[in-house]
Amino acid sequence: MRLADCHIHSFFSSDATATIEDIAAVASKRHIDFFTVSDHYEIWDHEGYTFDPEERCSFLVEKQKLFPGLLIGVEIGEPQENPELLRQWKHLSFDLFLGSIHVAGNVFGPHSEGSFPDEVVYRSYFSEVKRMVETAEIDAVAHLDFPRRYLGSYVIPWDIVDQILAIIIERGLALEINTSLWRKGVSASMPDEAILRRYAELGGKRILTGSDAHQLEDVGDGVERAFHLARELGLTPGFYRQHEFIPLV
Ligand SMILES: [Zn+2]
Ligand SMILES: [Zn+2]
Repeated sequence: MRLADCHIHSFFSSDATATIEDIAAVASKRHIDFFTVSDHYEIWDHEGYTFDPEERCSFLVEKQKLFPGLLIGVEIGEPQENPELLRQWKHLSFDLFLGSIHVAGNVFGPHSEGSFPDEVVYRSYFSEVKRMVETAEIDAVAHLDFPRRYLGSYVIPWDIVDQILAIIIERGLALEINTSLWRKGVSASMPDEAILRRYAELGGKRILTGSDAHQLEDVGDGVERAFHLARELGLTPGFYRQHEFIPLV
């Protein structure tokens, strides 16, 4: 069995500090064959959550010579706000554009104002995910039901989620199984197994397993469990190299 962790934050993210050498050492110790450094780059105004893409790519290309399992990703936040940007980055040495929604207007995220019913938050959040999968040149979708991390209840607006899954499948994007909720003691996967089952039913296959590690000790955490979950549901875990999905099975 080969394993991949496609979602790791290094010191290029302003909320993480790990060096590439340290990440590679932990990945190797945990038998993670492929590890993608997917640092934050937020389109939506979020101070400090950016980097110089050319400089970071050349730095990481040098590291790839030392660590053949290293892949160059980005967790691109709210790419629908500037769909042109990823097209401009296409010639750089990125392996993976991992699309994320962390903000939905003033309803969800660091700019949210006031309190909204959970159902309204989920609906606004998934509407932004839909805009992202419709417009942005991403390879994969991170933590699809992310607001669950912060909300007391869990509501899936199936009408929008079905449309999102259909677009993901039609475009050949991958869906991430993000293992970070498991570390918070929540037994559900992110996205929930109900969404993963629906993805499989609709004909989806491509899965990325990602720890979303912001701390060194979390690198590779839960990816084997996520790998088995994907297999049980008839899905295909893999990783991206030069924007091409490489299955692990
Ligand atoms: Zn994220
Ligand atoms: Zn992340």
